[in-house]
Amino acid sequence: MTNVYNLFSSGAKQGTSFIQDGQGNTRYSYDQFDALTSQYANLLRSSGVKAGDRVMVQVEKSPESLLFYFACLRFGCIYLPLNTAYKVDELVYFVNDAEPTLILCDPKSEALFRKLSNANIYTLDNEGNINADLDDQAFDTADRLSDDVAVIIYTSGTTGRPKGAMISHGNIESNSKVLSASWGWQCNDVMLHALPIYHVHGLFVGSHLPVMNGSPIIFLNRFDAAAIVELLPTSTVYMGVPTNYTRLLAQPELGRESCKNMRLFISGSAPLLTHTFNDFNERAGHTIIERYGMSETGMNTSNPLNGNRKGGTVGPPLAGIICRIVDDEGIPVAKNDTGHLELKGPNVFSGYWRMPEKTAAEFSPDGFFKTGDLASEDEDGYISIVGRNKDLIISGGLNVYPKEIETLLDNFDGVAESAVIGLPDPDFGEAVSAIIVTDGTKNLQPADITAYVKEKVANFKATKHVFFVDELPRNAMGKVQKNKLREMFT
Ligand code: AMP
Repeated sequence: MTNVYNLFSSGAKQGTSFIQDGQGNTRYSYDQFDALTSQYANLLRSSGVKAGDRVMVQVEKSPESLLFYFACLRFGCIYLPLNTAYKVDELVYFVNDAEPTLILCDPKSEALFRKLSNANIYTLDNEGNINADLDDQAFDTADRLSDDVAVIIYTSGTTGRPKGAMISHGNIESNSKVLSASWGWQCNDVMLHALPIYHVHGLFVGSHLPVMNGSPIIFLNRFDAAAIVELLPTSTVYMGVPTNYTRLLAQPELGRESCKNMRLFISGSAPLLTHTFNDFNERAGHTIIERYGMSETGMNTSNPLNGNRKGGTVGPPLAGIICRIVDDEGIPVAKNDTGHLELKGPNVFSGYWRMPEKTAAEFSPDGFFKTGDLASEDEDGYISIVGRNKDLIISGGLNVYPKEIETLLDNFDGVAESAVIGLPDPDFGEAVSAIIVTDGTKNLQPADITAYVKEKVANFKATKHVFFVDELPRNAMGKVQKNKLREMFT
């Protein structure tokens, strides 16, 4: 009897206000939690969905869509959220790959989904209205085993076919508990939620922790920096991607006064620049907790609640999670050396949906998941993410880690942010190339950048090309899309 819904349902019983709007009004109370998830679970049953079936959801963020997620856990089917930005070709792939029994979509895409699939289709609009009659009968939460798949998340892989990471009830339960304990979550915390809920960050971290503790969620349908700053005084925890933090810093009202009731600011999904970390500390009087995770694993490491939060690192591994950093032969590297980050723990997924070979290739013979991230660990056991394997630049046969050069560039006067990529080069194989967004304070020229980098690092790491852009292309989770930059500048 290990349906993870039980964890959330018993947390909900301790709480009062569940979903709040920006005005402090309770939209749904925790008293209603079981009743509302029953309604959706009854709908799943009457629509012929069976335990283990895929239920695909592509809708705008709303309290009802969050409740529908909890109802899927309760029912025992596999919840499969899709980014609302996906276009037709992508949807064709997902529908064929996942073969859902039921699809919940926006009314605007109903006709399209009907063309793509024979599944039962319901719509949920922006206001949370579903086009079905809901039945108020009680629902007995389905028994599930810890290894049963609860959610499939298609990873936002920037190249190749998206892979559906199968996340079990046990994965969710262990990661929720370890995070709640690590961050000292309490019933009286108030979560300010402005992340999308088709991704682990907003769906898992941002909603599991409040619900399992019965704490209120101020639920915003999208990120709006001005609205967030206004709501900080009535919140205690905020989670964002790094871009959210740079946008918050651009709000003149952000300051110690607006943040004085806040307990935690948490960042993840992409690297937080050290200067954002420092600027935020200075302006808001809070040290952001940076943590590291991925769809396949949930959260793996976090800077500590009590103790030193080191900017530029993602902190030590969370309790019960083993991280190791190895070289190309799988041998652990020395402290502070860069290698491939591998993980083991109760949070690690069981594999990719219908991709046994891909799954096998991503695990080491002794059962560690190969994250594809390059990392180093310092003397205190804090991990820094240095880049992605595929981002590694090999110039003249020598490895260049983009993060090292990006950190240098980000500290150069006049640079707001940068991305470093390898571009094809007849001589070196790949040429280190810097794409730069300036902060407008200096009239920077490519030669200034090249001269500065040459002065700081070995010649093989020096930038051979420098380009200036207005902004870096990013995906919905704030990750810089280096494949796009490679296409643009090759
Ligand atoms: P996703 O599966 O979309 O959540 O993407 C996971 C990837 O995001 C990881 O493998 C990392 O490359 C990156 N990532 C997540 N958190 C961080 C972080 N705090 N710093 C750097 N990269 C991160």
